[in-house]
Amino acid sequence: MEDVLDRFLRYVRIDTQSEENDRHPSTGKQFVLAGLLAEELKAMGASEVTLDEEFCYVYAVIPSNLPAGRIAPCVGFLAHMDTSPAVSGAGVNPRIVRFTGEDVDLGGDGRYILSLRDFPHMKSLVGEELVVTDGTTLLGADDKAGVAEIMTMAETLLTHPEIPHGKLCLCFTPDEEVGSGTAKIDLHRFAADFGYTVDGGPLGGLEYENFNAASARLTVHGRSIHPGSAKNTMRNALLMAMEFQSLLPAAQDPMYTEGYEGFYHLCALNGDVETAQAEYILRDHDKAKFNEKKAFFRACAEFLDRKYGPGTCETEIRDSYYNMKELILPRMEIVDKAMEAMEELGIKPLVSPIRGGTDGAMLTHMGVPCPNLCTGGGNCHGRFEYASVPQMRKVAELLVKIAEKHAQP
Ligand SMILES: [Zn+2]
Repeated sequence: MEDVLDRFLRYVRIDTQSEENDRHPSTGKQFVLAGLLAEELKAMGASEVTLDEEFCYVYAVIPSNLPAGRIAPCVGFLAHMDTSPAVSGAGVNPRIVRFTGEDVDLGGDGRYILSLRDFPHMKSLVGEELVVTDGTTLLGADDKAGVAEIMTMAETLLTHPEIPHGKLCLCFTPDEEVGSGTAKIDLHRFAADFGYTVDGGPLGGLEYENFNAASARLTVHGRSIHPGSAKNTMRNALLMAMEFQSLLPAAQDPMYTEGYEGFYHLCALNGDVETAQAEYILRDHDKAKFNEKKAFFRACAEFLDRKYGPGTCETEIRDSYYNMKELILPRMEIVDKAMEAMEELGIKPLVSPIRGGTDGAMLTHMGVPCPNLCTGGGNCHGRFEYASVPQMRKVAELLVKIAEKHAQP
């Protein structure tokens, strides 16, 4: 049996950074890790191991070892192979430190200091062994910690036939970080009744609520004229776009919201006197409030139309993804079994709403309910990313326990 840490260190050294484009996968280098995982799954004796040569997904099955006649659901486990475009994932040079709470000089040159002052939440990690970067790249614990944990679970179950479990479907996805982790997934190959994404944070994390999300574009049409003779004639599209922003509830901005509070986020504002364009994202966990936000966005544009004349504003709103909660609630045993597994292992469940989306939310709306589980990683998408070694080991154990729980009559 290989330790989850050794797997993790092997996977993070492989550059799998994804990028924003229209290709699937977005970057060819993700195939390197995908190919390795497929080989490793075959070597450990997993069944139906498939590497999708076109779209870069890895699928495998761990067959049920229950006595004939005993039926259990088919449980899925997923993690994503790519890392965020935010910071380079090339030449990751992981190292292990025992975190004492003192500053950690990542590169040894004083440039990047991991400190409790900047990351106070890391106080809970004092005394743990952490994998950190050398400051030049991200680590890739998001989500190679999840990948390593699922692989470790698979090897544990394949080498311990005495642990009873039903059929398990495994899937490693590309391009989660650029929003298309499930775009080309094959639900015939990943034929789970429900599943878990292993793509969360601290040990105990269990998430089954996420935002409802839409992107919204405002286009404002002005009228340009020489500023010297502009009185009562010019209509400045930029100023009207700013006025539009001022009509939105000021407190409902990402800077002032947390927990279940939704927001309007102005991501980009471009233009000139003649035309201006503002790009927004709208988010809310609550479906009714989400719909109200979209309606209010349109109403603000209509108000400016009344004020400045018809045709001044155009809006275009597109839904991106939805909260998985309403589809998980009728299947709460999926969440309950994970909580029971945690409690049996002495892990305190930390249930919280995700302020974003997950591949699991997409899958839930494709018919495969998928809450999200912890990985033991943190500070993701940056140089200060880390993975806790004891937490990764515990998560690997947790996955085994969850598989076992679902096989109990
Ligand atoms: Zn992730």
